[in-house]
Amino acid sequence: MLGSSTIDRLRDAMPTDGAGDLVHAALDVAKVLGMEGVGLAATQVNQGIRLFIVDASPYEQDHPEMKGFKKIFINPHIIEEYGEEVSFNEGCLSIPKIREDVMRKPRIRIQYQDREFNSYDEIYDDIPARIIQHEYDHLEAKLFVDRINPLRKILLKKKLADIMNGNIEVDYKMIFPGKKKKSIAR
Ligand SMILES: [Zn+2]
Repeated sequence: MLGSSTIDRLRDAMPTDGAGDLVHAALDVAKVLGMEGVGLAATQVNQGIRLFIVDASPYEQDHPEMKGFKKIFINPHIIEEYGEEVSFNEGCLSIPKIREDVMRKPRIRIQYQDREFNSYDEIYDDIPARIIQHEYDHLEAKLFVDRINPLRKILLKKKLADIMNGNIEVDYKMIFPGKKKKSIAR
């Protein structure tokens, strides 16, 4: 499976990690560089812990309820997913220039902790649910391209192989799952 080599076993985030700040900073940098990031998982910045952030605020224009939706999910566990699967066009900061329609259920129940390690058990729908599912997949060593139609994935294979091997020009620092060391691309 694509990207699985990057993760052996994730440990739980601890109050002393400070990794949340790093992930927030990384997403801010991506945005400054003009990338459309609406979430980022700790594994994407080489932190082997269960943590991701969601920033749904870029959807605000079409979905006013997303205004200011910015959240950190520490030690998250998706307990259940509900409803008929729906299609949504996803992209990923770890797979630049590729966007694909992905089918997922529209509602989830998730347990997680916040920065102060208070515990929550909540239901999310639609856009926040979708971003959470995408980021959660990163913690499970899955990418959205693992969820697309197998034929589409074959068609994308060359492109994906180029990305995994660092054979792509990007204008920010990224981690290529196919390489042992960190690569810095333009
Ligand atoms: Zn992603």
